[in-house]
Amino acid sequence: MNPQLKKYYIFLGASLVFSIGLQIVLGYLGVPWFISIGLVMAIFIILPMYMRRKQMGNYGGNSSGAGGGFFGGGGQGSGISVKYVCLVCRNKHNGGSCPRCGSKMQRADF
Ligand SMILES: [Zn+2]
Repeated sequence: MNPQLKKYYIFLGASLVFSIGLQIVLGYLGVPWFISIGLVMAIFIILPMYMRRKQMGNYGGNSSGAGGGFFGGGGQGSGISVKYVCLVCRNKHNGGSCPRCGSKMQRADF
């Protein structure tokens, strides 16, 4: 098994435990359940995204491979991924500064 993937699953488990704990704490504080669930969902969506972005940074990111086949195959692990489009050179990348031109001008592309 890919050690990065293993780390990712361990991280997911940890965040599950964390979110359950958070929900209990928020419940004690008198926060309505729909708000705490919203918070937990936000954590579940944002943290893995952040994690993946970091991983892609480690691999040097092959941003040129975003050609088609977006809906094809849709098997396991179809996570939510936000791409960014550089406003200067229209290069798609994973956020931060553009790897092609170094510009920080970007917009999210879903
Ligand atoms: Zn650019």
